[in-house]
Amino acid sequence: MTEQTITVTLAKEKKPKPDPSTLVFGKVFTDHMFMMDYSVDKGWHDAQILPYQPITLDPASVIFHYGQAVFEGLKAYLTKEGKVLLFRPEKNMERLNKSNDRLCIPEIDEEFALNALKQLINIDKEWIPNGEGTSLYIRPFIISTQPFLGVAASISYKFMIILSPVGSYYKEGVKPVKIFVENEYVRAVAGGTGSAKTAGNYAASLKAQQIATEKGYSQVLWLDGVEKKYIEEVGAMNVFFKINGEVVTPQLNGSILEGVTRSSIMELLQYWNIPVTERKVTIAEIFEAHKKGELEEAFGTGTAAVISPIGEFFWNEEKIVLNNGETGELATKLYDTITNIQNGRQEDPFGWTV
Ligand code: PMP
Repeated sequence: MTEQTITVTLAKEKKPKPDPSTLVFGKVFTDHMFMMDYSVDKGWHDAQILPYQPITLDPASVIFHYGQAVFEGLKAYLTKEGKVLLFRPEKNMERLNKSNDRLCIPEIDEEFALNALKQLINIDKEWIPNGEGTSLYIRPFIISTQPFLGVAASISYKFMIILSPVGSYYKEGVKPVKIFVENEYVRAVAGGTGSAKTAGNYAASLKAQQIATEKGYSQVLWLDGVEKKYIEEVGAMNVFFKINGEVVTPQLNGSILEGVTRSSIMELLQYWNIPVTERKVTIAEIFEAHKKGELEEAFGTGTAAVISPIGEFFWNEEKIVLNNGETGELATKLYDTITNIQNGRQEDPFGWTV
C-alpha cells in the first residue's frame, strides 16, 4: 500500500483521568483518537490522530441501515518499569482483515494500522492505568459511510481507533460464573458471519443474554444453529473444558470466532505438555462427563476477562455445579501465566508481547 503519514492534532485541553479503582469497562475514553477514510478513488487516505470527539455522518449511511461494520478488541498494559506492552496485536489486525473480507470492506494495511495504534497509544500513554489488573482497552473499528439506501457494499468507510482505560475485570479475585445453556436462540450459523467480528453478531446475541440475566445467569452458552447439540462459544468468549485430564475446545467451524486468547491458551497447554484437542463437543457429553465425575473444569477465554471460570451450567431444567463452584487449578494457572506475560512480570517464551 502507499506510503502514508499520519497528521497529528493534539487536544488543547486534557480531560481529567479517572480513579483506577472506580473504572467501569468501556465508559471513559482518552484524549485522542485515530481516524482514516476510504474512498474508491483514493483508497485508504487522510490518516490522522486528533482530539477525541463526536463524528458527523449522513443519516443514510450504510452502517445505520445494513450494519456493514467490523471491530477488534485488544489491550495495552503498563509494566512496573513503565514500559507499554501489547499482547499479540498483529493477530488482531490480521483478524480485522479477515472480518473485512467477510463483510466486503476494503483491506487495511496491517503494518500501517499497527503503527498508527502504537503512535496513538504513545500520545495517550498517561491514560494507561497502573493498578493491578488494569489496562488500556483498544477498540479499532471500521464503519460504512456511503449515504445510500440500497443493500450493497459501501463505497466509503471510516477506520477509527479509540482507547478506554479499564479496571480489573475481577475486583474480588477470579470468580466462577453461572452459565445458561441457550436452546432457542443462536448466535451464528455455519455460512453466516460468526467467525467475523461484526456488529450484527452482537446485536443478535442480546435477546438471549437478556433472558439469561433475568434468570440470574451471567452468560449464555451458545449451541450450533442447526441441531442445537454442539457447543460453540460462551457469551463473547471461546470455551474450554477439562475432561479426565484432557483439555478440549470446540473446533473452528465457520460460526465460531477464533479468539487470540484461545490460540494462546492452546499454545501454552502444548508448551506444558497438557493434552489439548479441538473437536466437536456436545452439551450432552459435558453433562454426561459431569455425571461420571470426569468434568474437572470449564472456562471461557477472551481479551476482556482473559479466563472466566464456569461454576455452573443450566440446561433443559437441569443444573450441574463444577468444582463446588470454585475456580479450578488449570484456570488459575492459565490466568496467572497469561496475565503475568501481558504485564511483563514473567518471561515471555513465545514472543507474544510487543
Ligand atoms: N468470541 C467472541 C464472539 C468474541 O467477541 C470474543 C472477543 N473478541 C472472543 C470469542 C474472544 O476473542 P479474543 O480472545 O481474541 O478476545
